[in-house]
Amino acid sequence: MKRDDARYSGPAKVKQSYMTEFLVECPKCKKDAFVQVNSGYVPSEGKLTCFNCMFSETSKDLIRYKAIVKRNCDNCGKPVNTEIPNQKETSSQVTLPCPHCGVTRTFQPRNEAYKLVYRSSGLSTDPVFNLPLWLQTEVKNNLFWAYNRQHLIDIKTYVEAKLRERQSKGFTTMVEKLPKFIKEAKNREAILKAISQLEKK
Ligand SMILES: [Zn+2]
Ligand SMILES: [Zn+2]
Repeated sequence: MKRDDARYSGPAKVKQSYMTEFLVECPKCKKDAFVQVNSGYVPSEGKLTCFNCMFSETSKDLIRYKAIVKRNCDNCGKPVNTEIPNQKETSSQVTLPCPHCGVTRTFQPRNEAYKLVYRSSGLSTDPVFNLPLWLQTEVKNNLFWAYNRQHLIDIKTYVEAKLRERQSKGFTTMVEKLPKFIKEAKNREAILKAISQLEKK
């Protein structure tokens, strides 16, 4: 064994460079699916693809509009406040009866866009769909997770290495930003065990 084998010499990559592809739990079949996003820096758009059940969806499919009418009835003068959520398109007209006098009028609503996200319970998720990451597990009461398989491999290489040096002067790399419990020598064995279980997942 060469003397340098224990030294970490992984790629000096920033965290964001891993954040373009996420392995997540498919919302339909609960198996592993991919989320690909436009940019690791401001991830707002992306595509979900599951090769297990062939479900796919884009972040644009998650956009909904709320048609909002806020006027006074021209018949009785009382306020007409109505919000119609969950519209896939913007509405140019809304016809509804006044809740006070019952006269029906057609209004031009204001359309407010919003994005549906999946609900997930306290787990690490992807930034676009909010789906739980596939590669996550608890290690000594800490949540350990990786965005994708390459991220997991690079964390593993780092944890395996006994000698860790500052990688770059210009920027903070992904491994340098890892949570403290992953870096602590006393947790090395537990982390490596968790990683090997996730690798089989
Ligand atoms: Zn699926
Ligand atoms: Zn009225």
